[in-house]
Amino acid sequence: MKKYERIGRSTVLVTDGSMKYIEFESLNKYRDVLVHFMSTRHGGVSRGECSTLNLGFGRNDDRQNVIENFRRICDATAVETESLVFTNQVHGTKVLMVDENDRGKGLVKESDLKGSDGLFTVTPNVTLVTFHADCAPIFLFEPSINAAALLHSGWKGTLSDIVSEAMSAMKKIPGFDAGRVEAVIGPSIGFCCFEVDEDVYWLFRDKYADDAFYCRVSDSKWKIDLKGIIKTRLAEEGIDEKKINDCDICTKCRNDLFFSYRGDMGRTGSMAAFMQIRR
Ligand SMILES: [Zn+2]
Repeated sequence: MKKYERIGRSTVLVTDGSMKYIEFESLNKYRDVLVHFMSTRHGGVSRGECSTLNLGFGRNDDRQNVIENFRRICDATAVETESLVFTNQVHGTKVLMVDENDRGKGLVKESDLKGSDGLFTVTPNVTLVTFHADCAPIFLFEPSINAAALLHSGWKGTLSDIVSEAMSAMKKIPGFDAGRVEAVIGPSIGFCCFEVDEDVYWLFRDKYADDAFYCRVSDSKWKIDLKGIIKTRLAEEGIDEKKINDCDICTKCRNDLFFSYRGDMGRTGSMAAFMQIRR
């Protein structure tokens, strides 16, 4: 028996035994055609710093644990593990279109999709997967043509503007209308906790000038509102502001529920975001 609990703006925590994952109300409107969810740190078999639902093969964990964790989250959400597609993420801006020929790449077979931090598809039953532990997942869905995109946007991806790459790739799909896109920024490090040194501050300041994105903490430390920058960039790309939902959950503040690179001092597991156009 699944339990549903609202934990953030437009965000629902689903509890199914020991398994916990989240969904977004603004995307649940499209549940007839779209599957979407994001894992938490709960419901798996991993131990120690990866306890318990680590989905990252690059972490300090046994491969068999990660495979079992994928099996469990896919079971809970009725997604076929054979449909998952993922790439090695490199904190870049490359965004790849995938289709039925890419099903299974990353988990059930070797992936030749390299160097990308974003995936999009218009093909049913191909499940996009991206990995996160403070870096923002960005979910994009265009309901008039059933196009879905999932992006991994940490500070480097936000600075180098992966949103721009994703939107220009998607704008090439016939019939794509940015004004119809439903966007969600999932759990990731918040303005409250993303503190950087002066050099990183200046990289951002030179590119994104609005004072509202920054807060001085001390002589040499600044806080940056990465989600605020992402929201602004999505709107500048033509997405209706009313359709841009920031779930407003900080992974470091909610380290009880989510893996957080900063909250766990770098020794942590990885969550994953998932999106699939239904058959
Ligand atoms: Zn925080």
